[in-house]
Amino acid sequence: MAERITIVGAGVIGAAIAFYLSRAGAKVTVIDAAMPASGASGRSFGWINASFFISPDHYRLRLTAIAAHHQLAEDLGPTGSQWPGAISWEQKGDELEATACQLEEMGYPLRRLTGAEVARLEPALSNPPQEALLFPNEGAVDLADLTVRLLEGASRHGAQLCLGVPVTGLRPGAEVLTAQGTIKADRVILAAGTACAGLLAGIGISLPMLPRPALILRTRPVAPVMRHILVTPDHEIRQDGAGRIILPTSANHQQDDSTEITELPPLVADAALARLTALFPGNDIAWEQVTLAQRPVPGDGLPAVGETGVEGLYLAVMHSGATLAALIGQLVAAEVLGGSPSPILEPYRPARFA
Ligand SMILES: Cc1cc2nc3c(=O)[nH]c(=O)nc-3n(C[C@H](O)[C@H](O)[C@H](O)COP(=O)(O)OP(=O)(O)OC[C@H]3O[C@@H](n4cnc5c(N)ncnc54)[C@H](O)[C@@H]3O)c2cc1C
Repeated sequence: MAERITIVGAGVIGAAIAFYLSRAGAKVTVIDAAMPASGASGRSFGWINASFFISPDHYRLRLTAIAAHHQLAEDLGPTGSQWPGAISWEQKGDELEATACQLEEMGYPLRRLTGAEVARLEPALSNPPQEALLFPNEGAVDLADLTVRLLEGASRHGAQLCLGVPVTGLRPGAEVLTAQGTIKADRVILAAGTACAGLLAGIGISLPMLPRPALILRTRPVAPVMRHILVTPDHEIRQDGAGRIILPTSANHQQDDSTEITELPPLVADAALARLTALFPGNDIAWEQVTLAQRPVPGDGLPAVGETGVEGLYLAVMHSGATLAALIGQLVAAEVLGGSPSPILEPYRPARFA
């Protein structure tokens, strides 16, 4: 009989796992307190990259994850991902060169660009940097859209969604508690983003999470002004297919370790827009939406994926879900149904926090 699996959380991680599990024949139910992508996945920058990493293992995971995104497009159909490459001048001089050498040594595709080359590749930039790095294999995806596509794909393979139903607790033996009663299955996969820690605490498991709030700005659609994902000293910036420019309001958002946001979001948005407009003068750019989000970041910054030690309960929580979702979906489905642990996930087991 098909294995019955309950997935708690209809963000991109739960959705990717649901897709690959149901495609492999499991009987999947996804339960969410709200609607799909109502957590971090609906408020993400969506950059898919391996140029940011915390350790060599983490680099390998992210590099493999880029390939997994292309595999996902074959398995699911169009994912909405764009692959324009990224141009970075967040660092300069020796620092930029050190990053280039380190990535080159690991075999990461990159090109050093002169100021003239940046100006040719990004003609609308007001003040191109004198040097930059081009990462040609990087991309971006609207995570809310991808989450819905993954859930639709899962549904085509028989998965069912239960929305607007908060999970109030977890019990050994794959039991999920709600105010309306208990859902029983053969296995539970907890993919509830920042809520994982609280749900695990209720069953005696400690999962430290870092408070990592962030603001994402979206502009009204404008005619195309940039061709790549741009990584400047102030912001990462991209323009989506509809013409909206999207940017975290802080610099270097993947390493931004602010624990609170104390300024009013519209004021922060005004300031970020002023910097954006200075980069692309002559364009009538106005912001449309600023969104406050909590990024799901386990205590050491790395993913937490694997068995929890509680019978039938598996965990998948991480930052960089835009980069990692496709791979996590593939690996978790193979581990859970195939039973053999995936070596590339070994550094990320939840037991390291025990
Ligand atoms: C501002 C920002 C910028 C980012 N930029 C990038 C980037 O450029 N590149 C990148 O790779 N990653 C980026 N990320 C990270 C990425 O968005 C996340 O890693 C990813 O969205 C996490 O997905 P998730 O499914 O684990 O969690 P979520 O999307 O948060 O989903 C969790 C789901 O669980 C549900 N839930 C919570 N509690 C319960 C409960 N008790 N019962 C039932 N359901 C519950 C929620 O409603 C939610 O739908 C960014 C994140 C943010 C916030």
